[in-house]
Amino acid sequence: MSPGDDLHADLLRRVTMHRRRFLGLAVAGAGSLALGACSDGGDDAAGGTTTTGSPTTRPATSTTVPDAQGIAADPFTLGVASGDPLPDSVILWTRLAPEPLDPGGAGGLGADDVEVAWEVAADEEFERLVASGTDVAGAEFGHSLHVDATGLEPDTWYWYRFRIGPYTSPVGRTRTTPADDADVDELRFAFASCQLRTNGHWTSYDHVLADRPDLVVFLGDYIYEYPGGTGPLRVPLESEPADLADYRVLYAAYKGDAKLQAVHAAAPWVVTWDDHEVENNYAAGVPEHDEDAPDFEARRRAAYQAYWEHLPLRLEPPEGTSLRLYRTLRWGSLATFFVLDGRQYRTDQVCGDSIPTVASSCPELDDESHTMLGSEQEAWLTDGLAQADATWKVIAQQTVMKALVLGDLVLNVDQWDGYPAARRRLLRSIADGGVENVVVLTGDIHAAGAADLRLPDAGTDGEVVAHELVGTSISSPGLGAALAGAIDLSAMGLAYANFADHGYVRCSVTPQRWEAEFVAVDTIDRPTSEASVDARVEVRAGTAGLRRL
Ligand code: FE
Ligand code: CA
Repeated sequence: MSPGDDLHADLLRRVTMHRRRFLGLAVAGAGSLALGACSDGGDDAAGGTTTTGSPTTRPATSTTVPDAQGIAADPFTLGVASGDPLPDSVILWTRLAPEPLDPGGAGGLGADDVEVAWEVAADEEFERLVASGTDVAGAEFGHSLHVDATGLEPDTWYWYRFRIGPYTSPVGRTRTTPADDADVDELRFAFASCQLRTNGHWTSYDHVLADRPDLVVFLGDYIYEYPGGTGPLRVPLESEPADLADYRVLYAAYKGDAKLQAVHAAAPWVVTWDDHEVENNYAAGVPEHDEDAPDFEARRRAAYQAYWEHLPLRLEPPEGTSLRLYRTLRWGSLATFFVLDGRQYRTDQVCGDSIPTVASSCPELDDESHTMLGSEQEAWLTDGLAQADATWKVIAQQTVMKALVLGDLVLNVDQWDGYPAARRRLLRSIADGGVENVVVLTGDIHAAGAADLRLPDAGTDGEVVAHELVGTSISSPGLGAALAGAIDLSAMGLAYANFADHGYVRCSVTPQRWEAEFVAVDTIDRPTSEASVDARVEVRAGTAGLRRL
């Protein structure tokens, strides 16, 4: 057993215990919490010795814990999360929901705002508190909290928790980034995407947890709009979500998963969305099906708000159907991540979103005005890449950038293949600016892969200007072995592809090299699974072109 296994077991145990403890437990009165009388009830997550139920000693702290404000059951059912770290701060997230699947979307709470205490400590026992305060979980935003915990040290791990009345949240572990100019020996992170709840268990997350990554990057399809499923994988909606209440129920069903909660509690996440956070293959204001157009603005507004409410974003809440999700994350002098939004500003998919499209019969493909990112984001990215002084420039985004064209068949016009002019502009700007060490991280396709991106069109010929790593899905259905048999990897310029398995990508990034391990789990049909490394790929700093190891 590796040390990671211990951490993993420990975190899962805490999440599980935390829930069990509050089932039917008559909690101590609110006033006694500050005196430490509730250490066997609400404080389980703080100590490592609570499996026996023996009381732990609560350290003296200066935190003033608000009373229960009428909350009659554990409100921390959705766990905790952190995200968007900076050298001196990190966003701490939770959402109060004593009844998370409440069909009205209020999580079992009323219309009143709720005051919550938060604590950040340098140790797991919360003996060395470094920051604390209270914040208001507004009813308007589903009683979610996005606390900006400031005044922290760079490149440092912390523990955090929330408290209200007799209730204490599970403990989360998070970290700050290195100082902007710091030399960094190594960044270890995982990236993942596409977790269709109803299709299987999220067995990958046990392995992400065991890796003890510095960071988790999620590239979209965090939820899917589909109801269905059975047993623990059931999503309690009768039809696709239409309003804010429906989307909140969806997130609550997804975020109830103990493995997902454990990984959120283990490291900061940096997230972006793709289509299914709203609905399949939407493009800005255009829904998947034309007949849904009249209701789509309201639906998108609800979906955007629910997304903001449930993820640890360093952003103000959306205004209507606008949420500026694209942003950067800097990891010292080692890496700058450009986190993209390929959904909110794109032009509609060409040629009726037909799949496959025969390129020669779809003149729209040549339309220079079509855009994946919108002009503002595109300029932001181009300028950012040109100015970036970190060794690695990482483009964390949604859909496949490599050209996947079989003869004259454009396999998927929802990908960058449907936006060839936009892709050409981006690749040209990288080449013209002499931007080296560009790595594109991709989700969406439910398949793993690795490829060099070449000018002018990400095809098989031309100068290598960037490198693309595609992660397969956590649980969404893959394309299957049939397609794998139809594709000649080398003819398409792919260094690696896996169309069958589920998993994630584990990256080790140093000033000299980037190594990616494509992790595949054996199954998603059971709650746990073995995992193995299906392929390893390396990019050396200063040398264009990735290499299979
Ligand atoms: Fe997906
Ligand atoms: Ca997608």
